[in-house]
Amino acid sequence: MSEKILAVNAGSSSLKLKLFTMPEEVELFQGAADRITGSGEGEFSYKKAGGERVKLSLNMPDHEVAIGKLLEVLVESGAVTDVEEIKGVGHRVVQGGEFFKDSALSTPENLEVIESLNSLAPLHNPANVMGVRAFSKVLPNATQVLVFDTVFHQTMPEVNYLYPIERKFYDEYKIRRYGAHGTSHKYVSEAAAKVLGKDLSDTSVVVAHLGNGASITEVVAGKSMNTSMGFTPTGGLIMGTRTGDIDPTVITYLQKIKGLDADGMSDLVTKQSGMLAATGFSNDMRDVEEAVADGKHPHHAQAVVAFDMFIKRIADFITLYAADVVAGGRNVDAISFTAGIGENSSTVRKLVVDRLAILGAKLDEVANNTRGTVDITAENSKVKILVIPTEEELMIARDTVRLRG
Ligand code: AMP
Repeated sequence: MSEKILAVNAGSSSLKLKLFTMPEEVELFQGAADRITGSGEGEFSYKKAGGERVKLSLNMPDHEVAIGKLLEVLVESGAVTDVEEIKGVGHRVVQGGEFFKDSALSTPENLEVIESLNSLAPLHNPANVMGVRAFSKVLPNATQVLVFDTVFHQTMPEVNYLYPIERKFYDEYKIRRYGAHGTSHKYVSEAAAKVLGKDLSDTSVVVAHLGNGASITEVVAGKSMNTSMGFTPTGGLIMGTRTGDIDPTVITYLQKIKGLDADGMSDLVTKQSGMLAATGFSNDMRDVEEAVADGKHPHHAQAVVAFDMFIKRIADFITLYAADVVAGGRNVDAISFTAGIGENSSTVRKLVVDRLAILGAKLDEVANNTRGTVDITAENSKVKILVIPTEEELMIARDTVRLRG
């Protein structure tokens, strides 16, 4: 039977949602509230399927006000006639630790477990739980479901998730690689198998999720085997404002010479580094590409080096994970690009694939300039190269239906 399901992504000062008819997977409505704070005007926007995006400035002192307004426009736009039609709400939760091996129903006990993991995702988990509580209040008859970014990576073998530090740090404090973007990597690897016309159990894909946050995952037979993000989403690739992997003594050295405490250092590696720091001016890849292309741009020289660093790190991880697939006795069936940069930047895709000569990867320049789900492989390439727009909200809606039973 058809039912209406909401997928929600609540941040500390933002909230995004999409409404679907399931199981048909038809998107009916999307809405977003940004800058939800005690003071000033926030940004509010929504769009009914097939319609234009409507943008408003709105005072949203807290999440409950933002949610109330989103539900109001949901009814006004005709996506539902009554909010009681919404039978399930799926919530993105960033960190489920080792406790959650699958999505789960929201219960007081499960919310407590998530809160106990706050120190592993201090920016995200509290906001995610706040979102669950707010929706439970306004839609008490809908099933609330928790969908974790970390669950997909729980299949990683020990050899890939342990760090070379004393075992007690894992046993006592659960310090290990968790990864993130799991919902996206799962969606894209499953979609890649479909595009290839292969059984998931017989498919190996390296997924490059390249957005402001970015990660690469090795997916074999539908299971995450390794992923570039680590204990937190700061590890791995060079990102908008995050360092990615870095010699840990750079941090202790900087702490000493700058007199920074742990919070100050954490701020530096998560919010003030990455492309923003390396280019000296922007974490937005469109700005960076513009500065690289324009020899007269004041940040041209720095942007060129930073952009090369960014591309090389991506190609390095893809090569590493492809080698791991082969060492495991399988072939790499596809390399799949997704997320803001992966879906939209033909330049990034081209430069990355150019560095994958060892895999015999070659890209079709014409196909590379088309949009949507597209096979951009050149005829003489030894491995398929795909672009697959990610659909994290749809995955959340699918799990919500599954858990509603
Ligand atoms: P996401 O975090 O997935 O929303 O992706 C955000 C990133 O995608 C930002 O760095 C944007 O600059 C980048 N992006 C979006 N569109 C383009 C484009 N046409 N070319 C290059 N980068 C883009």
